[in-house]
Amino acid sequence: MRLILIGPPGSGKGTQAKLLSENLRLFHFATGDVLREAIEKDTSEGRKAKPFMTAGQLVPDAIVNEIVAAQFRGSDKPRDFVLDGYPRTIAQAIALDHVLAEQSLGLDAVVFLNGDDEEIVRRLGNRWTCPNTMCNAVYHALFKPAKVAGKCDLCQTPLYQRDDDKPATIRKRLQVFHECHDAILRHYRDQNLLIEVCGSGDIEAIHAKLVNTLRV
Ligand SMILES: [Zn+2]
Repeated sequence: MRLILIGPPGSGKGTQAKLLSENLRLFHFATGDVLREAIEKDTSEGRKAKPFMTAGQLVPDAIVNEIVAAQFRGSDKPRDFVLDGYPRTIAQAIALDHVLAEQSLGLDAVVFLNGDDEEIVRRLGNRWTCPNTMCNAVYHALFKPAKVAGKCDLCQTPLYQRDDDKPATIRKRLQVFHECHDAILRHYRDQNLLIEVCGSGDIEAIHAKLVNTLRV
């Protein structure tokens, strides 16, 4: 089976991709890992991607496309896979269409783990951290609140919110996700490949729902 898994930040996409790869025996194609591996092996594509990765910048489409294409053209190319973290732009989606067609590896489905943005903000945007480096306890204002609001249970240090955990940061990441992915979802809906699965609930339940949907 050949799949793409798409989901907003906080949807548990990476976890679900890993479970699918284990239970359906698919190669887990996590683009971040593939990029890091290309750099480690010092391939010609890896050398091009390295300066962007080192600077913490997004690797340009053309380079990511080359790295992905190299994987699918290689002698050990995966025949069954779940792509996780690629394509991220419509240009990447089109490049992927080409390389898969060239290798006669048609996709079976593109699964969109759909999440409610406000639920994601509630879940991710309520984490508070103890800044005491000897402690670093993490709390959740709704699911694991400190006994005294705003103070660490263990060391009484006032809690703070990391930038990544601030609701405004999470809303911004969701907005960027929608800007990039709405066109990609349309692209696969037009090809009759898109399946939407509700991404709320626990990890095992979502996994079971995904497997059931894909087996139909
Ligand atoms: Zn503490």
